[in-house]
Amino acid sequence: MSSTQKAAAPAAGSDYAHKLPPQEEDFSGWYTTLVRAAQLADYAPVKGCMAIRPYGFALWENMQRLLDARIKATGHVNAYFPLLIPESFLKKEAEHVEGFAPQVAWVTQGGDDELEERLAIRPTSEAIICHFYSKWIESYRDLPVLINQWANVMRWEKVTRLFLRTTEFLWQEGHTAHRTGEEAEEETLRMLEVYRAFLEEDLGVPVHKTLKTESEKFAGAERTYSIEALMKDGKALQAGTSHFLGTHFAKVFEITFQDETGTRQFVHQTSWGTTTRLIGAIIMTHGDDTGLRLPPRVAPYQVVVVPIYRKAEERDAVYAFVDRVKAALAAAGIRHTVDTDDTQSPGFKYNEWERRGVPVRFEVGPRDVAAEQVFAARRDKKEKTPIPLASLAERTQALLDDVQAGLFQQALDFRAAHTFDADSLDDMARILEDKRGFVRARWCGSADCEAQVKDKLSATIRGLPLGEADDPGPCVVCGKASPRRVLFAKAY
Ligand SMILES: [Zn+2]
Repeated sequence: MSSTQKAAAPAAGSDYAHKLPPQEEDFSGWYTTLVRAAQLADYAPVKGCMAIRPYGFALWENMQRLLDARIKATGHVNAYFPLLIPESFLKKEAEHVEGFAPQVAWVTQGGDDELEERLAIRPTSEAIICHFYSKWIESYRDLPVLINQWANVMRWEKVTRLFLRTTEFLWQEGHTAHRTGEEAEEETLRMLEVYRAFLEEDLGVPVHKTLKTESEKFAGAERTYSIEALMKDGKALQAGTSHFLGTHFAKVFEITFQDETGTRQFVHQTSWGTTTRLIGAIIMTHGDDTGLRLPPRVAPYQVVVVPIYRKAEERDAVYAFVDRVKAALAAAGIRHTVDTDDTQSPGFKYNEWERRGVPVRFEVGPRDVAAEQVFAARRDKKEKTPIPLASLAERTQALLDDVQAGLFQQALDFRAAHTFDADSLDDMARILEDKRGFVRARWCGSADCEAQVKDKLSATIRGLPLGEADDPGPCVVCGKASPRRVLFAKAY
C-alpha cells in the first residue's frame, strides 16, 4: 500500500528510468514498477482508478477475444445492461446488498437536480439483470437464458493496486437462468472449466478448481466456486469465480416461468466473472527480474524485429530484408513490430523489449541478410537460434508454441515446489513463513477453525479442491475428524 501510494505520481517520460527491484527483495515494488515501466497502466487522479495504456489494452483485447470465443462456444450470447442501478433494486436481496453496501459508489445528483432515488454505479449486475429477466422470461420455452456482458464495474476499495484491486475495473459477467437446480449447478461447473482452460491454455497460468467456504462465498450465492492460482511471491490469487445462485434472486425479483403442466416455477440462476485482475496474474506468474514474460497466445507483439547496422549502406540492405521478414510474419498471422528507433543501440532495445515481455526477438544484421536468416532469441530462456527466411512462418509458430508450453511448465513446476502438506498449525505457520505457497491441511468444516487460522497466520482457506480423493484425519486446528485436505494460503 505505502509503496503504491508513494509511487503514485512518476515524473512525465520517466518510464524508462524506473529501476526494477529484484523480486526476492521487494516483490510488491517489482510489480508496481514493472506495470508502469512496461507501459501497461498508469495511476489516475482518483485513487484506485487507472488508465490502461495501449500496450496493456492490446493484451486485454487478446485475452478478451480468446475468452469471448470460449464463452460463445459453450452456447452463450453477449448483451449490455445499464451502468446505473436504482437503490431499491439493490436492496431487494438482503445478503447481496449487505455484502456490497460498503463498496458502492452512488449517484445522487443529475445536473443541478437532486435525484429522488439514489442510483448505484454497478458493483455487479445481478440486481439490474434480474429485473429484465423477470420481464423477459415467461415460459419454459424461454429457458435457459445464457447471457454474458463485457463491462466496467465500480467497487470503492480502500487498499488498491494496479490491476489486482482497483476501484473501477473491466470484466465479463455471465448471468444465466435455468429450469432446474441441477441444470444451473451444471452450468456453474461448466463455466469454471471454461475459466480453467482459458487460464491454463491461453495464459499459461495453472489453477486449482475449488469450492469456496461459507465465509468466502459471494453475497447472495448458494455456492461459490473459484479458480486459484499461485503467484511468484508464494501468495494465492483468486482468478475467477462461478456462483450457483439457486432461487434466491428469482424469489425477490419474481423471475418465474410456466412449466409444461402450466405451473409457475422460480428459475434457478448462476453468475460468473473474470476481470482485468487476470493481467496481474500473468505478470506475477511469469515475470522475472528482467521484466514481463508474456504468453505468446495473448502477447500484443509475439515477435519484435531489431534491425542491426553500422553504416548507411548496411541500413538499406537490412531494412529491405526486414520488409521480407515482415511480409512472412504478416502472411502467417503472427503479431509483430519492428523497432526502427535510430537513436537507440540494439543492446538498449533488447533490454527494453525483454522488460516488456515480447516472447521472441529477431535480430537482423548484415551477416543475417547475407545468409537469408534471422537470429531468434526467446524470452522464456536464454537461447538463440538462426531461422532461415524460407521456413520463417512454420519455425516461428513452432517456437511460439514452445514458449507458450515452456511458460506453463515453469509455472506448474513452481507451484509443485511451493505446495506442502501440513498436519499441525505450527507446521503451517513455519511453511507460510519460510517457504510460502499452498498448504494442504485438513479442516473440520467449522467457521471457528477457519477464523482461527486467519487470525493467527493471516492465511485463508482458498477452497476445497474439486475432484480430489478423500484423505481423512484430524482437523489441523481442533483435531476433530475431517474428510480431506483443503487449500490454505496467504492471498491477494
Ligand atoms: Zn476444526
